[in-house]
Amino acid sequence: MQGHLRKLVTSLNTENEAIYQLPLGDQLLELNSLIGQRIRLCYTGKINCLNCGKATKKSYAQGHCYVCMQKLASCDMCVMKPETCHFAQGTCREPSWAEQNCFVPHYVYLANTSGLKVGITRHTQLPTRWIDQGATQALPIFKVSSRHISGLVEVALAKFVADKTHWQAMLKGNHDSIDLKERAAELIAEVEAALADIIDKHGEQAIERVDCPVQTIHYPVTEFPKKIKSYNLDKVAEIDDVLIGIKGQYLIFENGVINIRKYSAYELSVVA
Ligand SMILES: [Zn+2]
Repeated sequence: MQGHLRKLVTSLNTENEAIYQLPLGDQLLELNSLIGQRIRLCYTGKINCLNCGKATKKSYAQGHCYVCMQKLASCDMCVMKPETCHFAQGTCREPSWAEQNCFVPHYVYLANTSGLKVGITRHTQLPTRWIDQGATQALPIFKVSSRHISGLVEVALAKFVADKTHWQAMLKGNHDSIDLKERAAELIAEVEAALADIIDKHGEQAIERVDCPVQTIHYPVTEFPKKIKSYNLDKVAEIDDVLIGIKGQYLIFENGVINIRKYSAYELSVVA
């Protein structure tokens, strides 16, 4: 199978196990059934921008050419740091993209990845976002009216809890179970004043407390690596190794791990 790579496609089955597919061009390779098997991944040396399709020597912003990285709203810094949204100043790179992607309901959630963390995502991206981060538990705590508001709430919460995942720790095993409901109650009490400020500026409809069940997620991993070594396709174009698990956007092989998302838009051939 050969084609341009995109981030792993994920879903949850009825047992809350993460199901993974590897997209190559318009084909999808089922991965869960390949665990325990030797797989060969070969980078052909070609990268084509996910947006315009032009060849690019280097991949920018996870699969774009330099020009698209500079012009697309989805590649702007404010996507990573939504509290810095500059739409109101009239400087959004693509206001129509923002209307469809930023000015829609978002969730602020707590998750257990390498430990407790706070995160945000668009309402359509659950549970995808959690699986992408390798979360074993997750709980939405607020539904908010836009990406910008989600950033403001996240910043308030991040004074008390991590907003990053330590990916190496996440890949070395599953963190102990956390009582997310209890932690949510504690954290929400801490940020009461900050939330009141946001509501003052942006209106009552900006933030809604939600009461959802905790989502548990199981990953198809037969053995966690003790030491994390990363495969780098820019340096060594071929991986020939036994797949022992998948967690987050990482394929875990006997001798190394690879972050598939990092190689979006690379042309690969895969023999399984
Ligand atoms: Zn491009």
